Amino acid sequence: MALVVQKYGGSSVGDANRIKQVARRIAQRREAGDDLVVVVSAMGDTTDELIALAEQITGEPEARELDLLLSTGEIVSSTLVSMALKHLGQPAVALSGAQAGIGTDRRYGRARILKVDPQRLRRELDEGKIVIVAGFQGITEEMDITTLGRGGSDTTAVAIAAALGAERCEIYTDVDGIYTADPRIEPRPSKLPEIRYEEMLELASYGAKVMHPRAVELGAVYKVRILVASSFNDSPGTLIHSTSSGQVHGGSPMMEQRNKVMGIACDADVGRITVRGVPDRPGIATTIFEPLAEAGISVDTIVQNASVERLTDLTFTVAKADLKRAVEIVKPVAQSIGAPEVLADTGLAKVSVVGAGMQSGPGYAARMFRTLFQEGINIELITTSEIRITCIIDEGRTEDAVRALHLAFELEEA
Ligand code: ADP
Ligand code: ASP
Ligand code: MG
Repeated sequence: MALVVQKYGGSSVGDANRIKQVARRIAQRREAGDDLVVVVSAMGDTTDELIALAEQITGEPEARELDLLLSTGEIVSSTLVSMALKHLGQPAVALSGAQAGIGTDRRYGRARILKVDPQRLRRELDEGKIVIVAGFQGITEEMDITTLGRGGSDTTAVAIAAALGAERCEIYTDVDGIYTADPRIEPRPSKLPEIRYEEMLELASYGAKVMHPRAVELGAVYKVRILVASSFNDSPGTLIHSTSSGQVHGGSPMMEQRNKVMGIACDADVGRITVRGVPDRPGIATTIFEPLAEAGISVDTIVQNASVERLTDLTFTVAKADLKRAVEIVKPVAQSIGAPEVLADTGLAKVSVVGAGMQSGPGYAARMFRTLFQEGINIELITTSEIRITCIIDEGRTEDAVRALHLAFELEEA
């Protein structure tokens, strides 16, 4: 008998019928002998609808109240799943994030889990219950309810799996695993039987929203085996873990010389800031980026152009939601160092190729740039990690770029 944490996403619990189906899947698993903690997302588009509702009241809802409001979405679905299980004769109990012991910091809308106190979860499990936990939320030391950021129920599930030392964490969604590209964009994606944490982290951080990046990060730190699979069928899914046995898409063994790109990700969440005429002297980068860090704004790509007469342009990107605040912070700093202009724009997207083998093989970047060039797509900025190459391009060309790169790196389904 194993302890397993499962998570069902929004479309998996989209209406009463879906909830009953999910309850039947959970009950079957329980009858097979496993102890279960089940984390659920809000039903369908509930979170978007609650945000829209708040916006009808005020353009700038207070962060604390907004989090309290959004947390209700997951509370609704958790109670309904629990009721459906009881209706099937299974003992179950629904818990909010706070009741499940999820303690977070105070960063509303993007709170981080500081600790999971598993006492209540353990007690309910010991009593033989299936525990249904409202995902995406936690509570601060001051007893205020927080949310973990969009897509955060994945992170709730992995954190609970880590805290309970569960056998594995199963993420059930509307696709039957991790593909070489978003199946909504690429018509012939290949399903990956398995993927390493590092590669999944890069894909997730650069736009593959099938997994919340922080869930993958937690999984890697606490060595939680994560299975991503469909809640709609019994297809085997994708295992995210630490070592790869060399199986790649299509299940064929990876040859040394073969393509080492694992997947393509894209993300239109790009806000670009350019500070013009920055004096080229030590300490300037600190002056600009420290206040952004203090405000909790993460800066992604940074490019400093070669200086002309000791003046340079500094360009960097942030999430769109942070753009306005970032400009407000940077403007006075720019003024104080004598930089005359701060420009901000959107309409851009990141497209990334990811693969752990790329670090040892030359030519990947060249192939990516050539492919985009042949598609007539201009590259605005480039950034890389050891296992990723990202180009920032015109948002309107995102899907063309993904498909062209998917083809160029020979990732289509066999
Ligand atoms: P859930 O509501 O279950 O959390 P999400 O909508 O957050 O589901 O994530 C699932 C979606 O992720 C899929 O419908 C798919 O369009 C998208 N996706 C993006 N990139 C990938 C990828 N590489 N593999 C699989 N799905 C992907
Ligand atoms: N309901 C939340 C969202 O839509 C959290 C989640 O689904 O994981 O972002
Ligand atoms: Mg999700």
